Amino acid sequence: MSQLTIESAVRDIRDFPKQGIVFKDISPILQSPALFKEVIDQLSDPFMAAPPDVIVAIDARGFLFGSAMAYRLGCGLTMVRKKGKLPGKTVSTSYDLEYGSNQVEIHQDALVAGSRALLVDDVLATGGTARAAADLIEMLGGQVMGIVFLLELCFLDGRRRLNGYDILSLIKVSG
Ligand code: AMP
Repeated sequence: MSQLTIESAVRDIRDFPKQGIVFKDISPILQSPALFKEVIDQLSDPFMAAPPDVIVAIDARGFLFGSAMAYRLGCGLTMVRKKGKLPGKTVSTSYDLEYGSNQVEIHQDALVAGSRALLVDDVLATGGTARAAADLIEMLGGQVMGIVFLLELCFLDGRRRLNGYDILSLIKVSG
């Protein structure tokens, strides 16, 4: 299955969730068993030789890719969620959006200090969400061994906010 096929299966939805945004909808990939498998394999393969201790998946579409990757890599899985969704004791951090701010949380006991964590989400846009999730991992004493995305919106330069981390993205959208 070619990269182009994965790329062409990401559907652009214009003006969602608001005017001027082009939403990258990954639903067609999930609907194709072959494409979903190919995505999970390509995102996981670089880590097969030395798997992480835990995958940290970001709310909500990161859960879809992160859980299948954890199964393939034979590692643990934990969630970074929007504020108020996790039932146990949490640590939280906030980050700035274009207007206002957002808060994300992780369970206090989500990972053991010193563990190697691989962070997973569907889309890298400005990098604020992934940066906040990386901060949470480090607040718990974890080590971010890499951050993987299905798709990167390169024109938003999210990598700048993730400076110093190893980043893998399968699809790069330049404009
Ligand atoms: P950011 O913090 O700006 O990097 O935004 C990343 C988060 O917002 C990810 O969890 C994505 O799922 C979501 N996101 C941001 N922009 C888009 C987009 N154009 N299409 C789909 N999801 C997006």
